Amino acid sequence: MIFVNENFEKLKAGYLFPEIGRRVNAFAQANPDAPIIKLGIGDVTEPLAPAVIDAMHKAVDEMATHQGLHGYGPEQGYAFLRDIIVENDYKPRNIPVDADEIFVSDGAKCDTGNMQEIFGIDNVVAVTDPVYPVYVDTNVMAGRTGEADDAGRYANIVYMPCTAENNFVPELPTEPVDMIYLCYPNNPTGAVATKEQLKKWVDYAIENKAVILFDAAYEAFIRDDSIPHSIYEIEGARKVAIEFRSFSKTAGFTGVRCGFTVVPKELIAYTKDGSAVDLHPIWNRRHCTKFNGVSYITQKGAEAVYSSEGKQQIKETIDLYMSNAGMMRKALTGQGYIVYGGEHAPYIWLHTPEGVDSWTFFDLLMNKANVVGTPGAGFGAAGEDYFRLSAFNDPAKVKEAMDRIAKI
Ligand SMILES: *Cc1c(COP(=O)(O)O)cnc(C)c1O
Repeated sequence: MIFVNENFEKLKAGYLFPEIGRRVNAFAQANPDAPIIKLGIGDVTEPLAPAVIDAMHKAVDEMATHQGLHGYGPEQGYAFLRDIIVENDYKPRNIPVDADEIFVSDGAKCDTGNMQEIFGIDNVVAVTDPVYPVYVDTNVMAGRTGEADDAGRYANIVYMPCTAENNFVPELPTEPVDMIYLCYPNNPTGAVATKEQLKKWVDYAIENKAVILFDAAYEAFIRDDSIPHSIYEIEGARKVAIEFRSFSKTAGFTGVRCGFTVVPKELIAYTKDGSAVDLHPIWNRRHCTKFNGVSYITQKGAEAVYSSEGKQQIKETIDLYMSNAGMMRKALTGQGYIVYGGEHAPYIWLHTPEGVDSWTFFDLLMNKANVVGTPGAGFGAAGEDYFRLSAFNDPAKVKEAMDRIAKI
């Protein structure tokens, strides 16, 4: 008899975006002329940079020749891309990362989801609340948790509330944890962590022999140079942290698919009898066994992100999104909302009005302003009184959305 992996039965059905879709469809059917503006899903809206398009076209033409055909490439990524990443993302900030510590992949969702495989099943996972659901669900699938309670919280996961009171950066846990997922700049709150705040976490991980899984997918949106772009800007982090990056939000690659993960050679974990084991060769083994590399065409596109034209073009696009975020902050604050985020991240996290929970606010915004956002409760219990608006949209549409919200 074939048995199912019962861990999958524990998963709360991917509730958030299907439920939003259901409500939006029902509304659109009842109001076919309603000019709905979607500020919900975290996907980019601007086209790819011309430098990226040119590089990908050239790569396609190369592939059309015997000489230029690229078959299987190195699983870890081509040297041309790993080298240019180090030269541009790490060297200028004096961050010691070697090209062979970089693993190019098809995106940060896959890597943040897959990385848990190299850690023992008995480790205790700590996540922020609210959280990017991938970190939680992949650990549920692996069997690292118990069942979920009514609030959707799984047994054996330590949830660290992030609210306005702690500036959306969690306190250190009061019980032992082993795998700590942090994401800054944060989705969904738009919050950032300072060097001092991250230092506390790195020190905790060193002291407690834990590992930090640091998601830096939004580092390109940081506007203040004192805010760290990488966990490795913190002393000691190479011993305890893995970093995930992505071209998705940085360069609009959500539909192209490319990201990378840094696994430092100093990083260690322990066997049950207490001996230290290097993680770099283990991740390398895992990556080479289960992944066959990102396409040459895509990696040539990613390389072009670092060309001088590419850098300028992606900066202009990020500036456009951040100008949207600034417009949203200003408009909503002016309307009396309490607004967080949107300064170093493409998300606005607003406090719902007194006595209005996040799904009620969702319905209100859709019905009265035809604007779709994301209820904070969908990201975790601590998101209940909050609402996420994304800055990924056309500036005129964003302005129109703000004008309509003002009239509610
Ligand atoms: C969008 C996003 C990513 C990027 O995922 P890709 O698979 O690289 O597209 C990673 N982490 C968070 C928190 C995100 O919001």
